[in-house]
Amino acid sequence: MAAKGTVVIDRNRCKGCELCVYHCPQHVLKLDETYNTRGYRPVILDERSGQCTGCAVCAVVCPDVVFTVYRFPQPVRTPAVRAVAN
Ligand code: SF4
Ligand code: SF4
Repeated sequence: MAAKGTVVIDRNRCKGCELCVYHCPQHVLKLDETYNTRGYRPVILDERSGQCTGCAVCAVVCPDVVFTVYRFPQPVRTPAVRAVAN
């Protein structure tokens, strides 16, 4: 499925509360297996990241301003998905 959007995740701001994981309508978010500099497992896009619509629900529910949301003018096959470097 071609992605309509993507998110950039500032992993060191995340406290792993999973609010965004619960509310993402496309179910494309999960907690990472590794820890951030604050000792939390931060959220990451999972293998279904191509289904992200850029709806921004994650950014609305996140209490810690972790997400930057992008919507593509046209659906793309390979979204530019990355996390902000530590
Ligand atoms: S923008 Fe929407 S579909 Fe994409 S990760 Fe956030 S809540 Fe999920
Ligand atoms: S809602 Fe924000 S702080 Fe909570 S897990 Fe998601 S990105 Fe991290």
